[in-house]
Amino acid sequence: MYPVMLDVGDHACLVVGGGGVALRKAQGLVEEGARVTVVAPEVVAPLETMADQGRLRLERRPYLAGEALSYALVFAATDDREVNARVFNDAANAGVWVNVADDPELCSFHLPGRVRRGPLQLAIASAGQAPFVVRRLRRLLERRFGVEWAEWVGAASRFRDRVRELGSEPSAQEALFDRFFDETVDAERLRARVPTATEEAEWLAVPVDHVEHRSADPAGDTSACRDGESDEGSVSLVGAGPGCSGLLTVRGRRRLLEADAVVYDRLAVPALPCDLRADVELHPVGKEAGIHPMPQEEINALLVRLARRGLRVVRLKGGDPYVFGRGGEEGEVLAAEGIAFEVVPGVTSGVAALAWAGIPVTHRREAVRLTLLTAHEAVKSDGPQVRWDLLAQDKHATIVGYMGVTALPEVVHQLLGGGMDPATPAAMVEQGTTASQRKVISTLEGLPAAIVEAGIQPPALFAIGPTVGHAKNLDWFSRLPLAGERLVIPDVAEVVVRRLEAAGAEVVSLPFPVTPVARVVMAALPITGCVVTSPAEVDWVHEERGGPGWVDDAPSWCIGEQAAERARQRGWRYVHELLPGMNCGELVARIAAERR
Ligand code: SAH
Repeated sequence: MYPVMLDVGDHACLVVGGGGVALRKAQGLVEEGARVTVVAPEVVAPLETMADQGRLRLERRPYLAGEALSYALVFAATDDREVNARVFNDAANAGVWVNVADDPELCSFHLPGRVRRGPLQLAIASAGQAPFVVRRLRRLLERRFGVEWAEWVGAASRFRDRVRELGSEPSAQEALFDRFFDETVDAERLRARVPTATEEAEWLAVPVDHVEHRSADPAGDTSACRDGESDEGSVSLVGAGPGCSGLLTVRGRRRLLEADAVVYDRLAVPALPCDLRADVELHPVGKEAGIHPMPQEEINALLVRLARRGLRVVRLKGGDPYVFGRGGEEGEVLAAEGIAFEVVPGVTSGVAALAWAGIPVTHRREAVRLTLLTAHEAVKSDGPQVRWDLLAQDKHATIVGYMGVTALPEVVHQLLGGGMDPATPAAMVEQGTTASQRKVISTLEGLPAAIVEAGIQPPALFAIGPTVGHAKNLDWFSRLPLAGERLVIPDVAEVVVRRLEAAGAEVVSLPFPVTPVARVVMAALPITGCVVTSPAEVDWVHEERGGPGWVDDAPSWCIGEQAAERARQRGWRYVHELLPGMNCGELVARIAAERR
């Protein structure tokens, strides 16, 4: 086997087959600029979308004899070995390179496993003899090679240009390249960094005969290593935010996408990105329907075990990990075990759920102090740690109570006993920032009865203080046309997703193939409907309908007659047929008008 990198740019390539494997081949080729034709009687929705977008040519029909001849490169990925063999024979007889997925005998070339960091690519192959090894090595290298290598190659390429401009002797150029490499690559840990402009200028300014080769510090100089990652595995304690997926931080999302294992609480689920790697290990440890939460000691032990296996672990918690989240205890265990850990703070629900309910936690001249407390403190038998009597006297403050549903009557009793005005504005917010958000606005005295009447359930928190009085004026969320909608959409239409979110809907972007994490996310809260744009997308979503999270007979908004027709054939009820080519604004208006 002889390795090469093919420049497929603008070359005609053929993919026979229309399933997930064919999709990946077509995507890979299109990304490299090839002119791709896909031939298959039936194709998965993303292929259809790519054809609609003009990124490839789609021929909905069986493979025709001899067709392979007119292409530079041919792939067959049908589930029919006879068809695959015909494609192979046609191509091989004509001297066209051909690859049949999962059939080494019918291949004139194999595809290596790839680890890609920008223009830098590592290819791994076993001449088709041990594909399982290739897959595992690829995963290992995926972990070891951080994303920073992409930027590093860019810097290396720019450095090369500048060295060339100097026009010095080849040996002097090599010496400069050595310097660049040694200063920026940590060979022990396989980490790289982009040098600063000053460093580069300094290296280039040194007279060539003074440049000498510097070998990497064998003791493992970490100067090339920005974040000192070890092979031991590590744990990121990440705050998922209050529930709305857009409130997960950029860094938190990055950690999740890089993670090998995610240990998550129930409250964190709605914020889990559906595009996590398909092979990421998922460990639910919170209260799932009917299952008890895992005791804290077991969670600690799990984190240690996963990190010891060398995995990058994300411990994902609702809100912020250090706000009533026991993140401190987990961090201490990790520190004691010598496991590298970091904290990625999150948006705490005590601030965000209130913002969604129209309540600012501070306001000039009204509330200049904010107290976050756990309401359990009011009902603890071993003596409360909260001075309710002092809080009761503080007029210019907001009290935010986490875990506040059952303890609220006792909290109110204590505050009234401490002399707080019974007419102080008070509110309770359930499932804040999600499509299931509900709120009750009342007074200190009236709130306990009001939440019983409304049937408020955990997770919910309360706010007591003058700023609650702004709730009506500042209510921006529940006025949005799609507030309360939780819609599933096949992951093909970024623009539609953004518009629906802007209109207040929570959107679950369903990847293809559907990943385990997407199923976990769908199950987190009730799904109120779905939006589909083609018959293939109907099939894609149909497999999932009826799964956890889907309410019975969730309505569907089908763009185009064919999509609606397929939905009806599938037995969906409440099928709303929308005009093809309808713009996003009209789509929002239709959903708002017709939702049940
Ligand atoms: N670390 C979390 C809090 C964990 S304690 C944070 O920073 O937000 C769990 C409590 O948080 C729940 O009982 C509830 O009081 C509150 N909570 C979490 N998410 C919430 C939400 N979306 N809406 C209202 N309250 C929420």
